[in-house]
Amino acid sequence: MGLDRNSRVIGIDVGGTFGRGIRGALVDGTGSRVAGKEAVTPRTSQEDLIEALITMASRLADVAQRDGAPASALGLAVPGLVDEARGVVYRSPNLKLQDVELGRILQDRLRLPVFLVHDATAGALAEYATGVGRNVSDMLLVVMGLGVGSAVISGGRVLRGAHGAAGEIGHISLDPAGMICGCGGRGCVETFASETAIARRYTMAAKQAILAEEVIARATTGDAAAARVWNDALGALATVIATAVALVDCELVVLSGTMGIASGALAPLGALLAKRINLVHLPRVEVGELGGDAALVGAAAVAFERIGAGHPTLEWRGRGSSPRNSDLV
Ligand SMILES: [Zn+2]
Repeated sequence: MGLDRNSRVIGIDVGGTFGRGIRGALVDGTGSRVAGKEAVTPRTSQEDLIEALITMASRLADVAQRDGAPASALGLAVPGLVDEARGVVYRSPNLKLQDVELGRILQDRLRLPVFLVHDATAGALAEYATGVGRNVSDMLLVVMGLGVGSAVISGGRVLRGAHGAAGEIGHISLDPAGMICGCGGRGCVETFASETAIARRYTMAAKQAILAEEVIARATTGDAAAARVWNDALGALATVIATAVALVDCELVVLSGTMGIASGALAPLGALLAKRINLVHLPRVEVGELGGDAALVGAAAVAFERIGAGHPTLEWRGRGSSPRNSDLV
């Protein structure tokens, strides 16, 4: 099976970092979405979340079947600590998932090969292959949404680390005595800069409960409490992004996730980074081109690669099989 227009895999982003819901799509061999579905991410129990994933995957598989091009695999983007080789989610603080063999469970129910991938990694692969990163070989993708995550592509390869956890900048602690984080730590970047944290900090300061997007809107219209909360979020992000840039020397920082795309963070973050990055080269900062689809498109790319259909991230870039990038996914 090659990477042609008639090949189909299902890509699903479980949600929890990039955005609020489960997003799924049927993706063809050229990287195009041929059908898409969205659902609310259940936060009641692990079982409810698994059932929601099975429902979405089954509906997309039915669409593929009706089109006469059955889906060959499911790629699933999951936040948190994920063992991609074994299909196990160890911890996903923003979802109720812990030590669950999600790959095997879904595979048994769906009768399809299922491949797990860390969500920020999936998003980075997609932007690298077909989005704003298609002309670079070194990039940092930062997800700003319900959580804060990141992934690094260095010399055309995903940087994974010893345990696949490279890039978890959301859980770098900036204040060991700060607010408790979903990971059990204190003062993590997520406790400043996630949607939940921005809303919570504003409620504490202004005694009024509003959504993060409203806090950000008010920050530029004279609401001092909102401005302080949003500036603290941007400051926390700038600190860890500048640190990451010093470590990996990337030429591009991609903002992704609901807030990364829509909050207007690009200009203020760019200005903060320009002040903080002096010795190493200042990277370009851009918003991802794939919007909320980045993680599911990347998950589909991983599924294509794992079933031996070729290297989508290379072919979608139109580069052919450069040896430098041959073990990207
Ligand atoms: Zn944390």
